Amino acid sequence: MEKIVIIRYAEIHLKGKNRGYFERVFCVNLERALKGLRHELRRTSGRYLVEAFDGERVGEICDRISRVFGVHSYSVGLKTESDLDQIYACARLVAPQSGTFKVDTHRADKKFPLNSMQLNAEIGGRLLGENPALKVDVHEPQAYVFLDVRENGSTLVFSEFKKGLGGMPVGTAGKGLLLISGGIDSPVAGYLMAKRGMTVECLHFHSYPYTNEQAKEKVVELTRILSRYAGTAKLRTVKVTHIQESIHEKCAPEFMVTLLRRFMYRIAERLAKKIGAQCLITGESLGQVASQTIEGITSSDSVVESLPVLRPLIGFDKEEIIERSMQMGAYETSVLPFEDCCTVFLPEFPVIKPKMADILAEEGKLDTEALLAEALESLEVIEI
Ligand code: ATP
Ligand code: MG
Repeated sequence: MEKIVIIRYAEIHLKGKNRGYFERVFCVNLERALKGLRHELRRTSGRYLVEAFDGERVGEICDRISRVFGVHSYSVGLKTESDLDQIYACARLVAPQSGTFKVDTHRADKKFPLNSMQLNAEIGGRLLGENPALKVDVHEPQAYVFLDVRENGSTLVFSEFKKGLGGMPVGTAGKGLLLISGGIDSPVAGYLMAKRGMTVECLHFHSYPYTNEQAKEKVVELTRILSRYAGTAKLRTVKVTHIQESIHEKCAPEFMVTLLRRFMYRIAERLAKKIGAQCLITGESLGQVASQTIEGITSSDSVVESLPVLRPLIGFDKEEIIERSMQMGAYETSVLPFEDCCTVFLPEFPVIKPKMADILAEEGKLDTEALLAEALESLEVIEI
């Protein structure tokens, strides 16, 4: 017998003719996740098997699989020949020591001499005979022994389905550019788009020297956390210090955030097109702060010429976002107290429902194109 991990995929079966493509991408993603750990990955009808790994590292293998989008569930188990005595030898290893249980057989190999019911009865009976602390309960068992008799002469034996992240394999739904701040929301927004199969690249705006190296390190770390799920390869940073200074100097203070956002979106769209990203992604949630009213969003959107701006958190409460941030392992980093650029020059009373005519009047005091060009010059690329 051999220790194995069984991986079942989520929505891929829905994809009809494209199924082969989705499966190939999924397989590449699993291989990437398992990189550096000795293993063999094999596809068998409707699932993947991880084999030939170091048994002591099974926890690490599961940990990595648990972060791959497209995984519906996975199980640690044993693989053996489809031979009754061998199957029993495995079953007694995964069976509980006491309490109620049920054997549940799936038999793909119709040539196996016992049918599912007979195999349940045979293995269940042997387990009961050997251990008087066990009891069968077919309706509400405390534990299961699952037997999967495969067509190829092998049987998989396991006791548990662990839930995967679900979603679609990253790389099957295009590429987006995430505007990532040092906050809680934007990493979660990137995570949710990756969950639907999108590759997510990151762009961060900083206001050096008003913001410091630690603030940047924090965003690098958040990008790294996101990259475990989202196929992120790079963090791009653009300096918006001079833009903020110019707004501060020339425009009404309550428009700082509104105007800065419009610069950010313009820069992001230009960069997105350069790197082949098909949309912008932000962590905005309706009404969360002054700049995230529908008027604020309209103002930002109106400077983006041809890409959609996706806001996966638009209907989320802060509490829900925090929960997901914790799940993805970003929360502790997100709450570190370093400023990102938006807190520099922040007005005491930002405009909440900016009128387009007022925005344009304020923006008209600036040389927009020159400021954009200068900011784009400051582009830096950090490999993750
Ligand atoms: P977050 O928690 O993501 O920082 P937030 O609640 O602080 O969001 P805002 O500061 O209003 O909200 O930012 C709204 C969105 O704008 C962010 O989710 C992010 O997508 C983008 N954004 C804000 N600041 C930056 C920045 N410095 N660099 C890149 N994107 C930014
Ligand atoms: Mg923020």
